[in-house]
Amino acid sequence: MAVPSALIQSLQNVSGFQQEAFEAVHASGEQIVSIRLNPAKPFDESYLPIADKVGWCDSGRYLKERPFFTFDPFLHAGAYYVQEASSMFLWQAISQTIPETAGKKVLDLCAAPGGKSTLLSAYFKDGLVIANEVIKNRASILVENCSKWGTGNLLVTNNDPSHFQSLPEFFDLLMIDAPCSGSGLFRKDPTAIEEWSEANVALCSQRQQRILADALPSLKENGILIYSTCSYSPAEDEAICDWLMDEMEMESLPIKTVDEWGIVESSSPIHQAAGYRFYPDQVRGEGFFLACFRKKTSGITTKWKFKTLQLTSKAQEQQLQSAILLPENLVFFNQNEAIRAIEQQWMGDLGILASHLYIKKAGIEVASMKGKDIVPSHELAVSNWFLGGFSSVDLDLANALLYLKRKEFSVEGQKGWNLMRYGGLALGWAKLLPNRINNYYPAEWRILKE
Ligand code: SAM
Repeated sequence: MAVPSALIQSLQNVSGFQQEAFEAVHASGEQIVSIRLNPAKPFDESYLPIADKVGWCDSGRYLKERPFFTFDPFLHAGAYYVQEASSMFLWQAISQTIPETAGKKVLDLCAAPGGKSTLLSAYFKDGLVIANEVIKNRASILVENCSKWGTGNLLVTNNDPSHFQSLPEFFDLLMIDAPCSGSGLFRKDPTAIEEWSEANVALCSQRQQRILADALPSLKENGILIYSTCSYSPAEDEAICDWLMDEMEMESLPIKTVDEWGIVESSSPIHQAAGYRFYPDQVRGEGFFLACFRKKTSGITTKWKFKTLQLTSKAQEQQLQSAILLPENLVFFNQNEAIRAIEQQWMGDLGILASHLYIKKAGIEVASMKGKDIVPSHELAVSNWFLGGFSSVDLDLANALLYLKRKEFSVEGQKGWNLMRYGGLALGWAKLLPNRINNYYPAEWRILKE
């Protein structure tokens, strides 16, 4: 399907737009496949058809062809995330505008399925990243992807952007990867062409302003805003940048790029805000737009509420600590039947967040208690916090796939709880009984394809 002529017309005088090459690349059907490696889960990459690195993101890799990702246990273990290469430019944006010093609080407001959140949590190793998604079922996918990524500093919330108004001046970085008209994805997903219209571009532009206006009070003075879309339309890109500088007291922050990346720097018509345009005929990636800003003023008197979380009893904590080897500096708290953990330094912030937001995933769920027995949680198995305490079994590919499908599989091992691993990385739990194996892989995450 051809790119809509109304879109082509609207891009005639837009920075970097080259009609012929743009139309040709869409007609070519060429597909670019890329992944981003999880630095905390090293694995044998040699079996993947890796071509080369993504220029603007150290952990980004282009693949020569698209493997059948669903049947790769490493994907399910969180060893990498399948992410479109242009979006990984976020790595440049943060590394050039906000140093990775301890204690940074980050909000990824429109976060599902989690590409940017997992990147942010890899960068802010000593920070706290809140991945928020307003749509409930998409928030569940976000929980799955963030859990598999394995970092304890990644929280998931399920709130409307307006709910963040009750957290004035809380965050050091606000990432808004806004819902948009989606023209940047036309090459990858031609069905998106049918949904495109000029009316929808105008609607998206208004929604983007509403989302930004709702969320910006939660950014600290001098805090950084990163705004991105996968739309080529200036109404959703440069016009939003001008509006941010006119109405929201933001100042533009340029980012250095390298010529060979093929990224086009644009300048907004009124305030010359720097924006970065990705055209698939010029970069190795899909259509994308990103701009960075600093918040100049605040004027808000900070007042947050606080909810006291129910700490796990000392006795239970000791039982847990003697059974499972975990990092130091964790605080344990109860949520329904489950015992969760978070790093000590974030406990106060978690109390504040819990009093204002609906938290779907706080820290890592470590275990639940069945009578006096500890039942280790799946989130613990795939997290970077599980350091030992249960025996493990290394599965071959066939058994790993049976395990991930929740089908019967056969392995030898010590009786009781065992960590199922593939290539050295954890997939989840199974309980080995004298005459059968209980598969504890979460039913809702299992591989359905045959
Ligand atoms: N950041 C994600 C990533 O890198 O994987 C992709 C985000 S996608 C471009 C935009 C997200 O905004 C979608 O998950 C969508 O559900 C959400 N969304 C839709 N309407 C919204 C609204 N009114 N306010 C906030 N988010 C919204």
